Amino acid sequence: MTACWSKGRTKHYAYYLCDTRDCPDRRKSVRKEIIEDEFETLLASLKPSAHLFHAIYEMPRGQPKSRPF
Ligand SMILES: [Zn+2]
Repeated sequence: MTACWSKGRTKHYAYYLCDTRDCPDRRKSVRKEIIEDEFETLLASLKPSAHLFHAIYEMPRGQPKSRPF
């Protein structure tokens, strides 16, 4: 992914170019805002559930006191 500046009619605006080989959208310019918007959506969807934190923090407490064997 390459970041570029393009001169618009009134101001410069940022956009990205994809550099990935075999990408159907390679070298196609994408507005910076669109990429950042999608990135935020991706991060939101990757949020671990509260139960993951519960599992991490409660694991030592939940361990059995004696070995089962
Ligand atoms: Zn691409």
